[in-house]
Amino acid sequence: MNSSLPSYLAATDLDPWRMFLEQVDRVTPHLGTLERWVESLKQPKRILIVDVPVRMDDGRFGHFEGYRIHHSLARGPGKGGIRYHPQVSLPEVMALAAWMSVKNAAVNLPYGGAKGGVRVDPKALSVGELERMTRRYASELNLIIGPDKDIPAPDVNTNEQVMAWFMDTYSMNQGRTATGIVTGKPLAIGGSFGRRDATGRGVFVVAAEAARRMGLELAGARVVLQGFGNVGAAAAQAFHQAGARLIAVQDHTGQIHDGAGIAPAALARHCAQNGGSVNGFPGASALSVQEFWALDTEFLVPAALEGQITADNANDIRARLVVEGANGPTTPAADDILAARGIQVVPDVIANAGGVIVSYFEWVQDIASFFWSEGEVNERLDRIIREAFIAIWELARERQVSLRTAAFIIGCTRILTAMELRGLYP
Ligand code: NAD
Repeated sequence: MNSSLPSYLAATDLDPWRMFLEQVDRVTPHLGTLERWVESLKQPKRILIVDVPVRMDDGRFGHFEGYRIHHSLARGPGKGGIRYHPQVSLPEVMALAAWMSVKNAAVNLPYGGAKGGVRVDPKALSVGELERMTRRYASELNLIIGPDKDIPAPDVNTNEQVMAWFMDTYSMNQGRTATGIVTGKPLAIGGSFGRRDATGRGVFVVAAEAARRMGLELAGARVVLQGFGNVGAAAAQAFHQAGARLIAVQDHTGQIHDGAGIAPAALARHCAQNGGSVNGFPGASALSVQEFWALDTEFLVPAALEGQITADNANDIRARLVVEGANGPTTPAADDILAARGIQVVPDVIANAGGVIVSYFEWVQDIASFFWSEGEVNERLDRIIREAFIAIWELARERQVSLRTAAFIIGCTRILTAMELRGLYP
């Protein structure tokens, strides 16, 4: 919990940020005259590193390292989630912020890109410790957040309750209730219908669009899923409702398999009663990690962490379609291997954009103090993400590039156009 040397002074795993830089290099030849601005994508605009001291239940002081990064604010306020995880690092949050810039631009939301995180194992904290840590972290970020500056949201290991504490803390510091400071809040305090399932719903909508174009039937199709959290569980439910079969799930505790199909609602109940673990789900057998990645399937949905599909396991994958629920799950080397093997990858910056699209709706509703029905939210989400996906798909065909490069062409062109129009100050 306490370390005398801040981690940003020590060597950290640079991989996620290197991945982003390589993705930018791949898009650069497609940017025309905007290329002269591309260097600005390779530096975050602003990095805030904070010490988050917490009074622990036993009276000791814990110190946790927290980050908030603005990658680009060229198109609007910063937007992106907050992650609590023991492996959170500066290069990871830099990459996650940068992917938010590209994603927000690729689906044409009026936002820049931001991300935050605290290096902590939240499962090792009591509820009181988690609340105090969240409140102190929110206060430390006060310098750079605001409903018109930077609007956080949930990410790995953060949820509606964490957003509620975050909103309350910002509101107390401001002396007014500011619902628009975060999205992913509970409905009772300015949250939006549809936000909880939005990312998983979007994963399914783009997967279905891609499948249709590839001549893949959804009914009876097999789905292999990594991560059964906010994104994974909602995506699984949407696939299940469309008649697809969830045949395997991996989480941080293990891998389960049932060729006849796993009912997502029953698995969610099992996890809730089993300390958040999929292990021991009745009727399913355990798999090794190697067996999990090598499963024959139509859809493979990584919905956990970055850097999961690498040069080490990409050759084992036997999916027709990889749909990235997580941010950055596939390395550039793995992208090349999958492409050479004819496996289509629907990239994160479109596949998991459903969450930020409905976050945008939530923010708009908070500002207007006028709330939409669940039907309105879902109908608008489906339309926006589908149209953005179709534009990416068509550009990929036209330019003969991967869906990832096509999404980056659209996203980076919008960001760099905004920069060029605004000009360099002073
Ligand atoms: P979550 O905390 O709700 O769930 C994470 C899941 O991943 C859990 O099931 C956990 O067991 C599993 N997991 C963690 N480490 C793992 C490992 N090493 N191997 C296998 N499984 C592991 O998080 P979430 O909000 O569902 O986010 C998942 C991914 O989706 C992240 O990459 C996040 O950035 C991305 N994402 C989330 C949202 C959102 O709205 N929550 C939006 C866009 C993208």
